[in-house]
Amino acid sequence: MAGATVGNTEASLTDAIAIADNIAKLRAEVPEGVRVVAVSKYKPIEAIRAAREAGVRDFGESRIQEAIEKRQALSELEELRWHFIGHLQSNKVNAALQHMDWIHSVDSLKLARRINGAIGRGLSSPKLCLQVKFAPDPDKFGWHEDELLADWETLESLENLDVRGLMTIAPLGLGEAQTRSLFERARHFWQERQTASQRWQFDTLSMGMSGDYRPAIAAGATVVRVGRTIFGDRSS
Ligand SMILES: *Cc1c(COP(=O)(O)O)cnc(C)c1O
Repeated sequence: MAGATVGNTEASLTDAIAIADNIAKLRAEVPEGVRVVAVSKYKPIEAIRAAREAGVRDFGESRIQEAIEKRQALSELEELRWHFIGHLQSNKVNAALQHMDWIHSVDSLKLARRINGAIGRGLSSPKLCLQVKFAPDPDKFGWHEDELLADWETLESLENLDVRGLMTIAPLGLGEAQTRSLFERARHFWQERQTASQRWQFDTLSMGMSGDYRPAIAAGATVVRVGRTIFGDRSS
């Protein structure tokens, strides 16, 4: 995958047209108030340039090294916002805080404490989402609802965290109705936490990917994270 960020100019022009087209179609479907994060993981920087040309400012990456390389390679593009959406290992916390505007995937108290400590030592403070699982999913990180409730007070006592809301990923293989009800539950839980929060501006609900952004938006997502629908399949 290391070579994935090296561009191929021949392919780029047609890719750029397809990307602009995909973005226009997506835009037509997504309401004004919902932010689209274009998930550019494993995609070359030319693809990100094409999406920026088409008006996208928010990009999502799931590996910190790849995200930093792309950000540096594209430093001349103004006003890009970089969103980290992958599992963040402890030894990458400092790098993530230095280079990411958002981290959607704060998935444990231990990680939250590390982030809090690093900000306390002077690193910058990105906007954060807490990752919650609304169905058992051993392959995914994050809190279950009851676990988050149990950690809530401790989390709120971490004085440096700029927590903006929740992020969730629906498990693969759910039917349409199940997906919908999972997202409804997420919205409900998010609103409850919004009311309960003593100090956070809890205005963000990050849910919905290429396969399920429609039900996510219908249920009240404020941010969708869309990769393949914009950039095409990652396996090709
Ligand atoms: C890869 C990824 C996405 C985007 O997935 P697509 O199916 O390409 O839209 C969204 N969120 C997370 C957490 C991801 O890892």
